[in-house]
Amino acid sequence: MSASKAGREGPGQPGTADLGHGLWKLPVAVVRNVPPTVNVYAVESGDRILLVDAGWDEESLRSLESGLDGLGASLADVEGIFLTHGHPDHAGLAAGLQQRTGCWVAAHPHERRWFAAGSDGPEPGWTDWLGAPPSAGEAMRERFGGNTVMRAPVITDLTDGQVLRSEGGRAITAVWTPGHSPGHLCLLDDSGALFTGDHVLSTMLPRLHQEMGSEEDLLARFLSSLGRTRALSARVLLPGHGENVTDSEARHGAVALHYRLRLDEVLAVLGPRNGDDPTTWDVAARLPGRRPWEERSLVARAMAATEAATFLCHLERLGRVDRRGRPPRWRPAAGCGAAPS
Ligand SMILES: [Zn+2]
Repeated sequence: MSASKAGREGPGQPGTADLGHGLWKLPVAVVRNVPPTVNVYAVESGDRILLVDAGWDEESLRSLESGLDGLGASLADVEGIFLTHGHPDHAGLAAGLQQRTGCWVAAHPHERRWFAAGSDGPEPGWTDWLGAPPSAGEAMRERFGGNTVMRAPVITDLTDGQVLRSEGGRAITAVWTPGHSPGHLCLLDDSGALFTGDHVLSTMLPRLHQEMGSEEDLLARFLSSLGRTRALSARVLLPGHGENVTDSEARHGAVALHYRLRLDEVLAVLGPRNGDDPTTWDVAARLPGRRPWEERSLVARAMAATEAATFLCHLERLGRVDRRGRPPRWRPAAGCGAAPS
């Protein structure tokens, strides 16, 4: 990698940046995604390169090659790829890169699920469970169907606390941060930078989606992961989308506060125990959002509803709400009408 090309922007690669300490940010395009770019990071390791995440599609490949070219490097220099998680915008291209270069691909074993055939749409019964109209299921299948069935790379398992030392002598420590995805990893570089994937982002929030029938307290898991990464006091957070975060403490605090306030809002829209109990879909529709419910696409509403399910299941675990029937209808637990302090 040529240092003389440091920080140069490759053709069509706005945002490519030299982050110092042998770290480079290479935003790559993803055609079918919102947001439309994913940050791939190149980590200098001797005369080779490690990548954090890979991008998704042909467009990602083109922009990754262009970004590497801007560093005076190429795909042939890639020693290995760390995947923060298996969502297609981060991991879709990993198998293709591995096939082309022979590089290793390291990820948490729980992320293998994303590479399994048949994991590409909502489960049958999902719309009923949420109290959603059937058209929401169709919209989700149309949007995500076929997207998550990716070619599977050969994965090197990376579990919590494991340190992977590259051939070039770089040490990267895995920090397991379940929440956004069951095997989400943050990766602590030996320069004190933390690659955060979709766990902590500069302005966006990680999507948290309760799976149908899952009894797991997903929000509690996420908040616990958030506490772990907060305690690392990383020099800089390097997220999977958007800008770097230089004040880790402040951003972690803001994310934690968001969820606390959101739980208050969920309790507020449930109202009193009056017998007219809302479904999960109804709760999502009543929650404040950036756009009015009627103006949102069915997919956006469905995503909002699965996130509302995450909050409701968390509040149920705390003894703040009860559910009745199927689809579940929600109401404040007896004596628990007020928002939590
Ligand atoms: Zn993701």
